[in-house]
Amino acid sequence: MSNIPKDAIQCLDKGFVRLVDSMGGDEAIVQAARVSYGKGTTKLSQDRGLIRYLMRHRHTTPFEMVEFKFHCKMPIFVARQWVRHRTANINEYSLRYSEARDEFYYPDPEHIQFQSALNKQGRMGDVSDELKQKVREYFREISDRSFEIYSELNDAGVARELARAILPVNLYTEWYWKNDLHNLLHFVGLRSDSHAQYEIRVFSDAMAESVKAVAPFAWEAYQDYVISGLRFSRIEQSLLEQNLPVRVIDDILEDIIYQITATLHHNKPRKENELYPLYQKQGGNDAEADFMLKWDSGEIETSNVRELREFKEKLLTIKK
Ligand SMILES: Cc1cc2nc3c(=O)[nH]c(=O)nc-3n(C[C@H](O)[C@H](O)[C@H](O)COP(=O)(O)OP(=O)(O)OC[C@H]3O[C@@H](n4cnc5c(N)ncnc54)[C@H](O)[C@@H]3O)c2cc1C
Repeated sequence: MSNIPKDAIQCLDKGFVRLVDSMGGDEAIVQAARVSYGKGTTKLSQDRGLIRYLMRHRHTTPFEMVEFKFHCKMPIFVARQWVRHRTANINEYSLRYSEARDEFYYPDPEHIQFQSALNKQGRMGDVSDELKQKVREYFREISDRSFEIYSELNDAGVARELARAILPVNLYTEWYWKNDLHNLLHFVGLRSDSHAQYEIRVFSDAMAESVKAVAPFAWEAYQDYVISGLRFSRIEQSLLEQNLPVRVIDDILEDIIYQITATLHHNKPRKENELYPLYQKQGGNDAEADFMLKWDSGEIETSNVRELREFKEKLLTIKK
């Protein structure tokens, strides 16, 4: 489409998302967090660890230090969903001031499906080519006809603010949309989810590309702790407590202790004879011979000590 700016990501048939400007990135999150935590981190790996810690503990305000401004073009029915995200600053193309353009969304045949029987807010199943054709014809017919009437009313001098009400919600609109990283991640979390409508998902996915580029550590942490993270309700925990054998929890705890030991050693290498005492100090119960066998197996991964200790605490809460 010729109307799509060169630096934009095309969305749907005529829409786009274009990152106009951004302020800060991972470093701005760390800088803000240092105000809370003192001198803190200096190395890149420490920055990543701090960002992951903040995300894990829902310490969200440092993420608000990063700002994004997008220029977006989307059908009005997508904008209606989008505008529910109240923390953004928006400036939209005005149909009171300017004339509407003959730009309507026509769904691709592959996205024309039946109403889902399982999800009241979804679609599923294969529609016949004949019905798809009919849907597309109706979209076109109503768009063309409404635009014809709109133009006629406009030419007759009827106020644009009133004439526009004749236009359907597949008409494209445009806006500048500015938000901070915390709220943008929240938006992407909801609107790139498989439960969100396809037509808004493509815009959300396009904005996610900017987040990945501008704040890669924050993006990674959001995926790990929010999108892929699991939370258990009180009732779910009680079921786990009742049914998870203590033996299984103990096995996991042992693995965690090995990981903690390996990570401590990785961060500050110890002499060989200091390894087993270090492991014991972390609470490890294996005999020294078994410890050496496993240690030499090369299967132990390193991670983040603080995170591993937090996981250990969580497991202990469901161990009777
Ligand atoms: C799959 C899906 C289906 C949906 N279906 C419907 C539907 O059928 N009907 C419908 O009406 N909506 C529907 N919505 C919209 C939904 O209810 C929310 O309005 C929308 O997702 C915005 O979420 P939010 O309020 O968390 O986000 P934002 O408005 O961006 O707010 C971000 C966060 O800021 C805080 N916040 C912002 N404003 C306030 C405030 N005034 N008071 C307190 N806290 C505030 C909240 O913590 C909020 O989570 C749907 C959304 C999704 C993703």
